[in-house]
Amino acid sequence: MSARPTDDLYVRYMKAVEDSTKHTVDCPACQGETPCTEGTSIHERFARLQDAYHNRLKRQNGNG
Ligand SMILES: [Zn+2]
Repeated sequence: MSARPTDDLYVRYMKAVEDSTKHTVDCPACQGETPCTEGTSIHERFARLQDAYHNRLKRQNGNG
């Protein structure tokens, strides 16, 4: 049995997904084509973490 360390990147990515989704549900601006100021930073963080997470998966799979 090997205990995996807390996957910090995955945890932050999931939190960003949740933040972005929750914000968009309540924010008409972010449901349209022009996100609000607060939403822009939330969605940018989500996009950055998504990229980082998927890049890491690709490296781990060794398909490159
Ligand atoms: Zn918004």
